[in-house]
Amino acid sequence: MIRTIPILALALALAACGGRSENLNAARSGGAPRAEATPVSAVVSSKSAKQLFGHEPGPSNQRPEPIGFYSKGCAAGNVQLPETGPTWQAMRLSRNRNWAQPITVDYLQDLSRFAAQQPGWAGLYIGDLSQPKGGPMLTGHASHQSGLDADIWMLPPKRLDLTRAERESISSISMRRQKGAFTNSGWTRAHHEIMKRAASDPRVARIFVFPGAKVKMCNDETGDRSWLRKIRPWYGHHYHFHVRLNCPDGATNCRDQDPPPAGDGCADAQDWVNNILNPPPPDPDYTPPKPKPELTLADLPAQCSGVLTAR
Ligand SMILES: [Zn+2]
Repeated sequence: MIRTIPILALALALAACGGRSENLNAARSGGAPRAEATPVSAVVSSKSAKQLFGHEPGPSNQRPEPIGFYSKGCAAGNVQLPETGPTWQAMRLSRNRNWAQPITVDYLQDLSRFAAQQPGWAGLYIGDLSQPKGGPMLTGHASHQSGLDADIWMLPPKRLDLTRAERESISSISMRRQKGAFTNSGWTRAHHEIMKRAASDPRVARIFVFPGAKVKMCNDETGDRSWLRKIRPWYGHHYHFHVRLNCPDGATNCRDQDPPPAGDGCADAQDWVNNILNPPPPDPDYTPPKPKPELTLADLPAQCSGVLTAR
């Protein structure tokens, strides 16, 4: 009996050196295989991507990887932002959108710790991240597809013990006045400090917020202005601001957005405000853009078929 044990161990060691080496490599990189293109039928590849991804209940058991673009992609190996942490709560849990790439979850937890140091803020209320496997959504966003986008509520959290029901019923608050040309009385220096911190993080590519908030921060900032470059004026975004991360190192299937133009972008934001206050006369030659056709699975990067079919 005693002599058989080393022989068994040797056999196992040899097996490990042979056919299982691929699995061992996978184990070293997180224990899960990388998402690869998987053959799917023509019928499936022509199906609506939001119908396919919008009903997936859980993440793919694959190496974490953002695939494609923020508005045309999917996410392998997403992880869940815990519903409640010491300095955050995920909101609207019924949507099942508190999933993202690990880098996004780390980032949000870091930012929430900073937010919790601001007067009147117990941390952050965090809105939509991505679906379990990313991809287009049945309702709501064009982006948030690759696990690198996150919406953060403007409402300063007073408590972090909200029940599930409260997280459905409580609303964020709007920060805007005059259709977004200005901030309203709800705006505080803490909003400025949290967005400054959010944008100063090297993991961040850009942050979307309504034009009046950007101009307000441009006017109030007396120190370093470099972070303002990443704050981008955009439609909506007065109940929440939207953080978009860069593709992480080594994510070769992830496509970055072109960086924002050089400079702090404050003059551009002022132009947005001026156009809100004094809308230019309508262009008689304007033709509204054709609505974009719905994305099919075949429109997404090929690896998304592997994400969709993985368990
Ligand atoms: Zn968003």
